[in-house]
Amino acid sequence: MLPLLKPFRDEAKAREICSLIEKLSGDRAYRIVHVCGTHEDTITRFGLRSLLPRNVEVRMGPGCPVCTVSPGHIENAINLAEEHGVILTTFGDMIRVPSPRGSLAEARARGADVRVVYSIHDAVRIAEKTDREVVHFAVGFETTAPTTAAELLAKPPENFSVYVAHLLIPPAMLHLLELGEAPIDGFINPGHVSTIIGVRGYGEIERRFKVPQVIAGFEPLDILIAVAMILKQIADGRGEIENEYRRAVRYEGNVKAQRLMEEVFRVVDTAWRGIGVIRRSGLALREEFEEYDASKRFELETSESYEMPEGCRCGEVLRALIYPWECPLFQRVCTPETPVGPCMVSREGSCYIAAKYGVEG
Ligand code: SF4
Repeated sequence: MLPLLKPFRDEAKAREICSLIEKLSGDRAYRIVHVCGTHEDTITRFGLRSLLPRNVEVRMGPGCPVCTVSPGHIENAINLAEEHGVILTTFGDMIRVPSPRGSLAEARARGADVRVVYSIHDAVRIAEKTDREVVHFAVGFETTAPTTAAELLAKPPENFSVYVAHLLIPPAMLHLLELGEAPIDGFINPGHVSTIIGVRGYGEIERRFKVPQVIAGFEPLDILIAVAMILKQIADGRGEIENEYRRAVRYEGNVKAQRLMEEVFRVVDTAWRGIGVIRRSGLALREEFEEYDASKRFELETSESYEMPEGCRCGEVLRALIYPWECPLFQRVCTPETPVGPCMVSREGSCYIAAKYGVEG
């Protein structure tokens, strides 16, 4: 273990925080929601749920950027690769995600040129070496959108374009509160996204709902401290944004990355898989960047579909209504080797994470 991380994995400190959580929680039930695959990984890997009192639940919401991409976007990406014959690039997990038209991996097996890249820059380099059209299927939250913007501002070759499916996290959190399907007593806000949007990025949630929000890092103690901070806010009758992850997140966030995003993208209403259309929760290219917009270049229709494969309860998992192991297919029919829904495909999906660490159904 890196020496720097040691203080965040100290067992004695963890026990101390857990007894504080126990004192603060009393008898009533609390549902805390986080929106980050890396948080879920830490929680499951270190068995943090088993350290919490039974009345304090921590559930994952829509924090997986691959699971939440609308199936209509996947169908459009398949269409680009199969009907328009482009070289379609995207990130690893995305190619296995099912849609009514199958997955990009299946399209590749049928002969389409679908390639996995580690960054959009790799996709641009492919375009520089060919005369064929190259389209990058750009997915991800506020953490990846700035790199898409930077690449377009650097003027990629004419045969390169982007099919944009970037999503924004705070509107999704707001939407869960507006839906009100289940009470949410507090949010653990995602560390990576917060490095970009800062503490101020969650201001609208704070203004509209008196719900505690704590931005947290990714070590076990970060998460436990965040839970204690949320319970303390509730005990004090507060509903504010607090920053536990001060070692990486500033109030204003990464202003340079925010400017890149603002210059290249406009904010639009968009469909989230398993959730539906969320107001001002997606990004589309501004008119000035239309020449790089694959949906315009290839005249693709926008789709607002958001269904899950039959029998898959990933929508309820993403809305923090059930745990993965409450899905009857979990680890029976649906496994990482034979995934039924997107939450079992992506490494950031809570079904995949639960299966990876041997949680039983
Ligand atoms: Fe969907 Fe599989 Fe998760 Fe069930 S276990 S919710 S089928 S992804």
